[in-house]
Amino acid sequence: MRSVSVIKSLLLALTLTFSTTAYTQQADEQLILKHFHSISSEEIAGLMTELCSPKYNGRLAGTPEYIASAEWAAGMLHGWGVKPAGDNGSFFQWFDHPYTVVNDIGMLQLHLSQKDGSVIVKSYKAPEEYYPGMNSGNGTVTAEVVFVGYGVTAPELNYDDYRDIDVKGKIVLMNRDVPYKDVRNPVYSKWVNYCYHQYKVENAARHGAAGMLYIDGNSANPNISYIENMIVCGIGPVPLQDIFAGLGKDNAAILSQIDKSFKPASFATGKVMTIKANTTRHAEGKTCNVIGMIEGTDPTLKEEVIIIGGHLDAVGNGGGLLVAGGYDNASGVVDIMAAAKALAQSGIKLKRTVVFLLIGGEEVGLLGSKYYTRNPIFPKEKTVTYINLDMVGNGTGLAVSASATCTGLTEYFTTANDKYIHRMMRTSTSSGSFYGRPRSDGLVFLAEGYRTMSISTTDGVKPVFYHLPGDDETAVTPEIMEDVAKMIYLSFIEMASANTLIY
Ligand SMILES: [Zn+2]
Repeated sequence: MRSVSVIKSLLLALTLTFSTTAYTQQADEQLILKHFHSISSEEIAGLMTELCSPKYNGRLAGTPEYIASAEWAAGMLHGWGVKPAGDNGSFFQWFDHPYTVVNDIGMLQLHLSQKDGSVIVKSYKAPEEYYPGMNSGNGTVTAEVVFVGYGVTAPELNYDDYRDIDVKGKIVLMNRDVPYKDVRNPVYSKWVNYCYHQYKVENAARHGAAGMLYIDGNSANPNISYIENMIVCGIGPVPLQDIFAGLGKDNAAILSQIDKSFKPASFATGKVMTIKANTTRHAEGKTCNVIGMIEGTDPTLKEEVIIIGGHLDAVGNGGGLLVAGGYDNASGVVDIMAAAKALAQSGIKLKRTVVFLLIGGEEVGLLGSKYYTRNPIFPKEKTVTYINLDMVGNGTGLAVSASATCTGLTEYFTTANDKYIHRMMRTSTSSGSFYGRPRSDGLVFLAEGYRTMSISTTDGVKPVFYHLPGDDETAVTPEIMEDVAKMIYLSFIEMASANTLIY
């Protein structure tokens, strides 16, 4: 009799437990869906318009306008109930960052000597033909242009673009990258330090050049070292053609020859040009990451953090050429903010802590992610994964990629998509064998030993105005951004609530 009643009461207890759980699950699901549907493309479009507003002047890291955009984002997070996780109870993690303001578009001219001794001056147009150096010294240089290939001096690799060539007081003309191209091959690690824009301008200055024309496309590039007496300008195909005109040479042909032979092919072009840059240096600059969190509620699991991040800064305003940074990367920031709002306002109890990291200084050399990984607010060992969003706001398909250390986590995203979103979706494992220059905040975290993931959008992507004035709030599709935010929201609830995570 006694054992029967024990079994009976056990059964009763089990039934009660199951029905309570079922009830809770249903209530939870209703709550989850309510806030899922609160994420709207209209709201996303509104947040995009704000971030792309001229008042933030292209959000160049260090500028007062960037800081104003960071304060706005922090204020929104705070209003939604996200807690600060930066320095001294604030949303901000500050670091030093000198920066340069480009006051006007400057000037690029070619001086064409005629047979009768006269000189015709050809002036180029910005941004169609050239782009002012976003970190140029202030001043004017008129000098002969000397072609220096890749602008690399690598004695241990027996390669020097400046060998036997005099560039003192001259304008050097050079290309991006290095002669060795296979970033998946460990050999690339010997070349990697020579492919940075910063290195190239510093090496030109070491050789006494007074100016630099960088064949990196005529778009904004603040990711280059500032050197007081070095006048820098980015050029597109038109001035490049004019420099090579009549010389019986061609930039592309020379490069492919260098890439095959590893023999430099530098030469003085005989062409004289003028570069004028009107810039102001702010050596006292500081910038910041914006960090917010929703604290976990489980006494043990709350120590574990899931970080989602994207860069808030953009490339600024090159003397009237405002690049609002809509697709790159207001889109990633807004996706994170919309998901943060839904998660915080739902009040759903998450066991783990969720962290929102809006990064400063990406466009000037991944400074914000480097600063965070060297000064982590949450221990690396307790970080479940860092998920990066950069240019996530265009196209019709979703893609989630993970480092080999956490491919299992992509399952949380595909489940969310299969159940509620129904977009075409791809998942992939990002290769660990990469020896090139890290070109995203995600790769900075990966190099520091974090498990990393990235979310992107694919298929039918609209034309991308990369680092150009066309990259404003009209460069994105709010409907796909709504679904990205919804996918983050749903997968984060699952990831942050699971008793055990499957990596
Ligand atoms: Zn970006």
